Amino acid sequence: MDWRKELKENVTTVKELKHVLPLNMEPEDTNKMEKIIKSYPMSIPKYYLSLIDETNDNDPIKKLCIPSIKETDLSGSFDTSGELDNTVVVGLQHKYKQTALVLSTNKCAMYCRHCFRKRLVGVSDKEVSNHFGEIITYIREHDEISNVLLSGGDAFLNNNQKIESYLRALSEIEHLDLIRFGTRTPVVFPMRIYEDEELLNILKEYSKKKKIYLITHFNHPKELTSEAKRAINSLITAGVIVKNQTVLLKGINDNSDTMAKLLKDLTRFGVIPYYIFQCRPVSGVKNQFQVPLKKAYQIIQETKARLNGQGKCFRYVLSNETGKIEILGNMEDEMIFKYHQAKYEKDQGRLFTLNISENQCWI
Ligand code: SF4
Repeated sequence: MDWRKELKENVTTVKELKHVLPLNMEPEDTNKMEKIIKSYPMSIPKYYLSLIDETNDNDPIKKLCIPSIKETDLSGSFDTSGELDNTVVVGLQHKYKQTALVLSTNKCAMYCRHCFRKRLVGVSDKEVSNHFGEIITYIREHDEISNVLLSGGDAFLNNNQKIESYLRALSEIEHLDLIRFGTRTPVVFPMRIYEDEELLNILKEYSKKKKIYLITHFNHPKELTSEAKRAINSLITAGVIVKNQTVLLKGINDNSDTMAKLLKDLTRFGVIPYYIFQCRPVSGVKNQFQVPLKKAYQIIQETKARLNGQGKCFRYVLSNETGKIEILGNMEDEMIFKYHQAKYEKDQGRLFTLNISENQCWI
């Protein structure tokens, strides 16, 4: 089946979900879930649903794609990184000197329950780039920008023509070293890649002009299926460099057995571990998925102890309004942090310590 048709068969309502998956839900819970979906849509490819182990109530795949009643807890924030403040043209953010970030769509193949852009994915397109010319002009006029991240939503939910337009315009800008795509399609909908010769040919052609990196987002070893590997192989064959960022999530990958297996398998299939993110205090997400910093740091250390140098290429970071901050160490009450990327010049590379309590999940 063509991937576009397949995507249209995504499960988007509680009724459809109950049809394909046995769910023990009281009528009152059904109502609550329907209400959640109205604000934060559900959309699950049949492929991703097939990875769920129906006999396991704590199945990680289930938690990543099916809304939980806990999403009604709205403590936290919907913009934990100050994205609106970094917007220079609608759909274009310029927070770090060298990097431009384009919100190229608000659509995703799946709406992940832990998403930090919950405020816009599948909901509102008012932050999305619809001024292509202005965006390209801004990037062309700022020669400190050395790379552009095409994000969203999911950059591969754009059609091939739009993807090619971006590649054509950006590959002509001399001061760019590379172009990045942010996409979770290798994980949740890999057929978008391996079934689409046209897309692969576009990537192949433009990767000869400018280095193309693809940043994907595997969170659990169960996601590394033969289909996912097929998508990764197709990308690598097309000349694309594939890297992965993972979010450390309670009940999904918050133990070193799972995390080490994930990173080991990724390197085995040619994907470079890039970041492990501390889960942000996003409304509807934090109470469900955040792991306390001290516990998280311990998991990362135990994970690193099991990996070779390639497996531990990643940095364990948290991303807030001021930058990307690496979590470097734990000394009894205090933890050590260092700016890896800073919004303000004064913070570049700055080391600092903070008192962190046992249950504290953010700084
Ligand atoms: S694919 Fe990425 S942007 Fe889309 S819902 Fe999942 S985490 Fe959010």
